[in-house]
Amino acid sequence: MNLILLGPPGAGKGTQAKRLQDRHGIAQISTGDMLRAEVAGGTPIGREAKAVMEAGQLVSDDIIVRMLASRVGQPDCAKGFILDGFPRTVPQAQALDVMLEAKALRLHAVIELKVDDSALVDRIAGRFTCGSCGEGYHDSFKPTAKAGVCDACGGTTFTRRADDNRETVSARLAAYHSQTAPILPHYAAQGILHTVDGMADIDVVAGQIDAVLARVG
Ligand code: ADP
Ligand code: ADP
Ligand code: ZN
Repeated sequence: MNLILLGPPGAGKGTQAKRLQDRHGIAQISTGDMLRAEVAGGTPIGREAKAVMEAGQLVSDDIIVRMLASRVGQPDCAKGFILDGFPRTVPQAQALDVMLEAKALRLHAVIELKVDDSALVDRIAGRFTCGSCGEGYHDSFKPTAKAGVCDACGGTTFTRRADDNRETVSARLAAYHSQTAPILPHYAAQGILHTVDGMADIDVVAGQIDAVLARVG
C-alpha cells in the first residue's frame, strides 16, 4: 500500500508513519529525516539545505524530487511506502504523479492530519527523539515511561531539532498554509483524500487511520 501523510509541522505525521511502518511492514519515507542526515553528513545537499531548514522555509523542489526518486526504488519499499513530509508543494505533487506512473505504481490514500495551529506550537516545542533508535517523544503528551530512558531501546541519549523552537514555528506554519495546503485539492480531485482529526490522542488517531486503510486497502 502506498500512502501519503499530510499535515502541518507537529501534526503527528512521523508518529503515525512509524506505527504504520511497524505494523504493516511498509517503509516510512521522511524527507525531513533524509535532509537531516544530509546536514549531519555535511554533504553538498546538506550544506545547501541547512540554513533553509533552520529558517523554517522549504528546500527547493529540485533537490527534494531527486532525493525522493532514488528512495522509492529501494528494496524496503517493495510492500509499499508512507510518504511523511512529501509532497509539500504543488510541483512536488505533480512530480510524484509522473514518478509513480513511470513505475506503474499508484497512491492508495492521502491522509490529512488536521490540527489547530494553536496546538502545534506546544507539540513542536516539546518534541524530542531517541538518539539511538529514532523513537519520537513529547515532554507532556508522550514522555518516556522512565525519565531519561528510551522505552523502545533503553537508549539514554536524546536529541531536539535545531528548527523546533517557537520562533521558527510561525515560519513553518506559514509555509504550510501558503505552499503545502494547496496540494489538498489536487488529491481531492483524484478521490483519494481522507481527513482525520489529528487533535485526538495518538492511539485514537491511529485507529482513525486504520479505519481509512480498511476501506481503501
Ligand atoms: P515536520 O515534521 O515538522 O513537518 P520535517 O521533518 O518534515 O518537519 O521537515 C523539516 C524541514 O525540512 C522543513 O521545514 C523543510 O525545511 C525541509 N523539508 C522536509 N521535507 C521537505 C519537502 N518535501 N520539501 C521542501 N522542504 C522540505
Ligand atoms: P510531524 O511529523 O507531523 O511533524 P510528530 O509525529 O513529530 O509530527 O509529532 C510532533 C510532536 O507531538 C511529537 O513530540 C509527538 O510525540 C507529539 N504528538 C504526535 N501526535 C500527537 C497527538 N495526537 N497528541 C499529542 N501529541 C502528539
Ligand atoms: Zn530508543
